[in-house]
Amino acid sequence: MKNKRIIVAVDGPAGSGKSSISKEAAKQIGLKYIDSGAVYRAITWYLLQKYNTKLNPKEYINDLSDIAISQIFNIDGSCSSFINGLDISEEIRDIKIADNIGVVSDNIQIRNYVNKLLREWALENSIIMDGRDIGTVVFPDADIKIYLDASVDVRAHRRAVEYREKGKDVDIKDIKKQIALRDKQDLSRPFGCLKKSPDAVYIDTTKMTKNEVIQKVVNLISKLQI
Ligand code: C5P
Repeated sequence: MKNKRIIVAVDGPAGSGKSSISKEAAKQIGLKYIDSGAVYRAITWYLLQKYNTKLNPKEYINDLSDIAISQIFNIDGSCSSFINGLDISEEIRDIKIADNIGVVSDNIQIRNYVNKLLREWALENSIIMDGRDIGTVVFPDADIKIYLDASVDVRAHRRAVEYREKGKDVDIKDIKKQIALRDKQDLSRPFGCLKKSPDAVYIDTTKMTKNEVIQKVVNLISKLQI
């Protein structure tokens, strides 16, 4: 990678393959991968632990003064999340998190807190960060912006495969409903909603293999180094 710090922003809906594609591209090119969704998940996990009940829209910002969130992009290409040093990488993938996360990601104060953290994490290295508003809000001046998309059916299928690989027995109909709900929440959020930045490269991955998408993303980023 050349000397200048490079910022790659990857946005798209749930199940579009953002994180697996970004991690693989990061490994191949030598970028640091940052998972912004994992930060919203970590906060949701913490609040669920703290209040031990379904989350309601309210001021949660003061609760965040008790926690330090961190993330490590491991050498094997996985990404680990921590709260106050506790590894919660597995816990934040629980279905309960997805059911409650809307309250957290709709909260403007929490969004500002997360965006500040994400920008700090990106200060030192060339990075690839995935999320919903990375190219529009977090890094509007990113060197390259990519928007990954796929049909709801294909995204639900990919998520179901991921869950099954982890030994979780899931019903594809439930996953499809959850993806549709998250699309609705992600698209309608008043701040930081899921939106393709006008200058983003749009990739519809519905009919593409994972390797084809990785190759395309790697090629796009590699052009930056010329
Ligand atoms: O990317 P992932 O599916 O793990 O994100 C989980 C949730 O976190 C999203 O559905 C959305 O509510 C929230 N999120 C967000 N902004 C981001 C990344 C994630 O609001 N940049």
